[in-house]
Order: sequence, then structure tokens, then C-alpha cells
Amino acid sequence: MNYYDILGCTKESTYEDIKRAYRTLVLKFHPDKNTSEFDNTKFQYVLEAWHILRDPTLRAEYDGIQEQEVLDSESILIYAKISANELKVMDNDKNILNYQCRCGGFYSIPREYIQKKNQSIHVPCLECTLLIIVET
Ligand SMILES: [Zn+2]
Repeated sequence: MNYYDILGCTKESTYEDIKRAYRTLVLKFHPDKNTSEFDNTKFQYVLEAWHILRDPTLRAEYDGIQEQEVLDSESILIYAKISANELKVMDNDKNILNYQCRCGGFYSIPREYIQKKNQSIHVPCLECTLLIIVET
């Protein structure tokens, strides 16, 4: 959950939108107004979200971190997207196709797996946590 979700806003929300959302939530969660359903954790998140998003500098920093996290989650795992004809036979076994990873290890896939056309096959590296997508 990110700060925008907590306040029910989006990255496109203006300062005024965020302020309005914050006020609504404060009224809803404030301990004095709502003793029976008071959720302290939720209320702390609302305060924290408001603290960051009300400040243009902190908000810009936070947006930057978020974008980096999205990039990381997409690019850390996937090393390459290749077509089946970029795979190579590396040793005597002609039925195993390989692609070299940046770690020095190999992505190995039996030839039979790529017979079917228009497939996207995820192949993990034998040595590290990366994977490639082979398009047939
Ligand atoms: Zn690797």
C-alpha cells in the first residue's frame, strides 16, 4: 500500500484533492470522534501519508522512489527477451539450447519446449535469480 492509496488519491491528484481526502479521513479515524472503531495503525498511516504528500519536495522524492521500485520489480528478474533463434547449442547435446547470462551461467532449455509457435517461455538462469523470456 502506498501513500496515495491510503488517502484514496492518485499521483495525478492536486494538493487540494489530497487535502480534502486527508480531512475526510481524519474525521473518520480521529480517536475523539470515533472511539469504537478507532484503528490507530490506520490513523498513523493517514498522518504519515499527509505529512509526505502535502510537501512538494517530499512528494517529489517519494514519487521518485516509487518509480524506481516499479522499474526494479520489472527489470531485476528479467535479464533479456529473446527470440528462439538466438538460443545456441553449447555442447554435444543438440537437444539443449542455451543463452549466456551476465553472471556467466546459462539459461538452458530443451529444444522440444520451443517447438510450439507464439509462446513466451520463462527460463531461469542455472546460476542466479535472473530469467529470460524466450519468444517462439
Ligand atoms: Zn545468471
